Amino acid sequence: MERYPRIEVYTGKIESNCRRTVALCSQYGIEVTAVTKGFCAYPEIAQSLIRGGIKALADSRVDNLKKLKNLDVEKVLLRIPMMSELDDVIDFADLILISEIETARVLGRKAVQKGVIKRVLAMVDLGDLREGFWLDDIVPAYGELLDIKGIEVAGLGTNLTCYGGVVPSCENLGLLVGFAEEIEKRYGVEVGIISGGNSSSMHLVYDGGMPTRINNLRIGEAILLGRETVFGTERENYYNDTFVLKAEIVEVKEKPSIPIGEIGRDAFGNVPVFTDRGIRKRAIIAVGKQDIHPDTLIPHDKGIIVLGGSSDHTILDISDCEADYGVGDVLSFDLTYGGMLGGMTSPYVHKVLVE
Ligand SMILES: *Cc1c(COP(=O)(O)O)cnc(C)c1O
Repeated sequence: MERYPRIEVYTGKIESNCRRTVALCSQYGIEVTAVTKGFCAYPEIAQSLIRGGIKALADSRVDNLKKLKNLDVEKVLLRIPMMSELDDVIDFADLILISEIETARVLGRKAVQKGVIKRVLAMVDLGDLREGFWLDDIVPAYGELLDIKGIEVAGLGTNLTCYGGVVPSCENLGLLVGFAEEIEKRYGVEVGIISGGNSSSMHLVYDGGMPTRINNLRIGEAILLGRETVFGTERENYYNDTFVLKAEIVEVKEKPSIPIGEIGRDAFGNVPVFTDRGIRKRAIIAVGKQDIHPDTLIPHDKGIIVLGGSSDHTILDISDCEADYGVGDVLSFDLTYGGMLGGMTSPYVHKVLVE
C-alpha cells in the first residue's frame, strides 16, 4: 500500500549537489561540513553526503549526532551546548561550537574526567545577533579558552543570516580573518579552522569573493535543496527537487473564495485575509500545519494556488489546472527549507528513499 503524505528523498540528486559544492569549495581551499538537521539526520541520507565527498557532518542536536555515530566521519555540534547535555556532547561530538567560557570550563572538566580532549570552535558574532562572542570580546576570550584543560581550541567560526539577516561579505568575513591574525600574533598559536558561515556564504564562493583564509563552511540548504539562499539566484546543475512531498486529495468542490459569515480568528489565532476570485474549484489534501506549513509548498503543477490550511488540512485552488483532479489523486510539491524540516520531523509523514 502506498502511504500518504510522504516525502520522497532523492539521495542521488543530493549526492550530486554535494559533490558539486565540495568540488567548487575545494578550488578555494574550503572544506565543507555538511549539515544534517534539515532532514533529522537520517543516516541513509547522511551517507549520500559522504558519497558526495563530505568528511564532516554537523547537526544542532545531540540526539541527531547519536543517529550518525556509526558513520566514520567527524561529527560537529552546531548549537552551542546546554550545560545539562555536556556528557552526551563529549560522547557524540568531535568538534563543538562554543560561545560561553563557563560552558567551556565545565566541558573541559568533564573531558579531563573522561580522559579525553574535546575540540571546540570559538564563535564570533559579526552582527547577526545570534550566538557568538562579541567583537570586542573574542580575542581575550580565545586566550581564556586556550588556558582551559581538556579542550583544544580548533579555531574561529561565525554564523550569519540566521536571526538578523546580515549578508556575509568580504568585509564582515574579513573581520573574522583579522581576529584570527590578532589571536595568532598575541598568543603565538595557529588558528587552524576559520569557519565562514552557512549556505548564505556560498554566494561569495560562486562569485570568487571569499577572503582567502576562510577554510571551512557549514552547508545544509545549498546542498540539500540546491539553493543559493541570500539572493535566491538559480544555480545551474543543482537539483531543487530532492525532497518531494506527495499528498492525497480528500475533497474536491466548487466553493466561493471568501468565507460566509463574520470572520474571527482561525485555528492558529490569526485573523485570515482572503482574495475574492469568485467561485473556484478547490481541493483539500490530507497534510497540515502540524506537519508542513502551507507557505512552504511549491506545487509541481504550476496551475495550483496554495490557499492555506489548518493543522491537518491544506487547501488548494485547482481551477487553473489542466488536469482534472479528483478524490484519491496524489499531488507533488517541492519544499522550502522550512517544509523539508517540518516534514522530515513529523512522524505522520512517511519517508521514502529513492536512489
Ligand atoms: C543550521 C546551521 C548551519 C547550516 O545552515 P544552512 O543555511 O542550511 O546552510 C550552519 N551553521 C550553524 C551554526 C547552523 O545552526
